[in-house]
Amino acid sequence: MGNKKQKICSWRKKDIQNNLQLFIDIVQNPTHVCMKCGRVANSADRLCKAEEIVRRGRQAA
Ligand SMILES: [Zn+2]
Repeated sequence: MGNKKQKICSWRKKDIQNNLQLFIDIVQNPTHVCMKCGRVANSADRLCKAEEIVRRGRQAA
């Protein structure tokens, strides 16, 4: 395992099933969305083509 960050983009259904808790940790409160496969993550390096999520609506100021 180690602490090398895996991109969830490369995870197959089985990988998600086998690492569900980790997957949930990665996708909860997402800050980035993958422009290629539509996955989301709270860390840019978990995605193959990460784009920061810009939340609309409630703006500071
Ligand atoms: Zn991706």
